[in-house]
Amino acid sequence: MGRTQSLMREGHVLAGAPSQRLALESDALPSFDAKLAQADMYPLRAGVVDILQINVGKVCNQTCAHCHVDAAPDRKESMSREIFEQCLYVIAANDIPIIDITGGAPELNPHFRWFVESVSALGRRIMVRCNLTIIVSNPKYHDLPSFYARHNVEVVASLPFYSASRTDAQRGEGVYEASIRALALLNDVGYGKPDSGRLLNLVYNPAGAFLPADQAGLEAQFKRELRAKHSVEFNQLFCIANMPISRYLEYLIRTGNYESYMRRLVEAFNPAAVAGVMCRNTLSVAWDGRLFDCDFNQMLEMSPNGPSHIKDFDSDRLRGREIATGRHCFGCTAGSGSSCGGATV
Ligand code: SF4
Ligand code: SF4
Repeated sequence: MGRTQSLMREGHVLAGAPSQRLALESDALPSFDAKLAQADMYPLRAGVVDILQINVGKVCNQTCAHCHVDAAPDRKESMSREIFEQCLYVIAANDIPIIDITGGAPELNPHFRWFVESVSALGRRIMVRCNLTIIVSNPKYHDLPSFYARHNVEVVASLPFYSASRTDAQRGEGVYEASIRALALLNDVGYGKPDSGRLLNLVYNPAGAFLPADQAGLEAQFKRELRAKHSVEFNQLFCIANMPISRYLEYLIRTGNYESYMRRLVEAFNPAAVAGVMCRNTLSVAWDGRLFDCDFNQMLEMSPNGPSHIKDFDSDRLRGREIATGRHCFGCTAGSGSSCGGATV
């Protein structure tokens, strides 16, 4: 039986960011900064903000086993109209080309559609991280594919595997079947079809305590299987490593896999992947407007060196800031690297 509620609702000790940070630092493994220094790459510094990644809240219609947000239907945190307006002001006043909207299930935020329409009117590239099942969960979301198409939204959709057993084990009973129905609706309006200009990218993450396999090979397999079994098309597959944060950290500790997984990440440290880590060109905004170097630092409540709220956004002060790092960062630099856009090398 899969997870039915958030760590927060359970009152689990790892629901708190300080206890997660403590768990990550409580063993004999090297620090991320020491590895960076060995590779002559310390400190890690941010460049220009190309991507504003806005996490609009922790409310979700799913309760996936590995969620690094600890999102679930029982969560209440959701971005207010006031914070959305502050984000919009920053987007309009600055030359940030890409707006990446995530959650939870971002579509559950009552201001979501207004915000997408407003950003689209500013002519920016919009990405939405969609869990797919939201589209078929309720008739009021059935028009999301055409809404996305109207506003040139790029859809980044989670699908851990092309089989029901592996997907449902990670994301919940019936998720695979609902995801395939949603993918068909997206395909119906042109998403994922060659030359349609409507981008539909899928996200794969491993089911257990191991690193993702080769991205190009897995993408070919996903394309072959989804086409043959369901006539589903998509553009690219992004392979993302599971980050040792929140529910995945809880899973690693509970199953006795924590130390071996962390050791695997440390041993697979790839200096070439450091250049592609997303904190170098992305700034993360939390539901309450706080700023972080990335969505993972947001969950660990590691404040950035610089402005700490969207209302204080200042591109000059953010550029060149030293990024706040920790052991979880090994998840971004192992093997082929891992970012919101998949492998980085
Ligand atoms: S769909 Fe995404 S945000 Fe929701 S519980 Fe699953 S991993 Fe977390
Ligand atoms: S976890 Fe965040 S701060 Fe650390 S390397 Fe990855 S993107 Fe950068």
